[in-house]
Amino acid sequence: MDDVRLLIDFHKDATRQGPGSDAETERALTLARVDRSKPLTIADIGCGTGASTLVLARLLNATITAVDLFQDFLDVLETRASEQGLSEKITTLCASMDALPFADEQFDVIWSEGAIYNIGFENGVKTWNRFLNVGGLLAVSEITWTTGSRPAELQAHWEREYPEIDVASSKLRVLEQNGYMPIGYFVLPEHCWLDHYYRPIQHRLDQFLARHDHRADAQAIVDAEIREIALYETYRASYSYGFYLARKVGRHTT
Ligand code: SAH
Repeated sequence: MDDVRLLIDFHKDATRQGPGSDAETERALTLARVDRSKPLTIADIGCGTGASTLVLARLLNATITAVDLFQDFLDVLETRASEQGLSEKITTLCASMDALPFADEQFDVIWSEGAIYNIGFENGVKTWNRFLNVGGLLAVSEITWTTGSRPAELQAHWEREYPEIDVASSKLRVLEQNGYMPIGYFVLPEHCWLDHYYRPIQHRLDQFLARHDHRADAQAIVDAEIREIALYETYRASYSYGFYLARKVGRHTT
């Protein structure tokens, strides 16, 4: 089994594939003052097994296109949507977030939790801008420094893994420079990492290894997860996911 299949197998039984929580998804909706009765068209990009998609479907009068690169995750999402009576609000689409088959101004809301890093924050917000209506809402979570300076070991780690990591003021500037008006920002609290993401991962490690006969490639994935969790536990004061809310601004007219 190649590494991608192994990673899918590792993550597909999880409620979520990144830090977050239902309450923080709802907090973003509230902060952006999203009208819960108005019909809205929404794209949830990099939806995984649908943690945020299902909250949006439950709380909003929405037609949601849930996009992920992997059909296995979308299959789980469809099952969960059907169990929760939400299927009518959700259509899944297996596609890459940098090659989306959407029309200009097709959506009122673009949502993306813990996923835009796959194509980079700046590239993502630029690429997706044209799919939003003017005045439409962009809601993205992105790994963010939460302090002005940080330990060298941590800095070196993230510069290797994701050089676009930065402080919130820099992310807000990227939004301002690419056709958005930032309207809100908050930091995901620790329980979004520990209770909703890392503890469930720790519970799955043994079963995952057993399922793959303790092979070296499976062990390498487990080792990487353990290292990532230890890093977070040591340095959690210095980074988190920032949740960014912004509205698309109209083109300048002269
Ligand atoms: N939003 C979900 C999943 C976050 S994990 C949650 O919060 O739980 C990141 C997701 O992005 C994964 O589901 C992964 O399959 C997806 N992904 C990775 N590269 C992608 C790409 N190029 N296009 C679309 N989805 C991608």
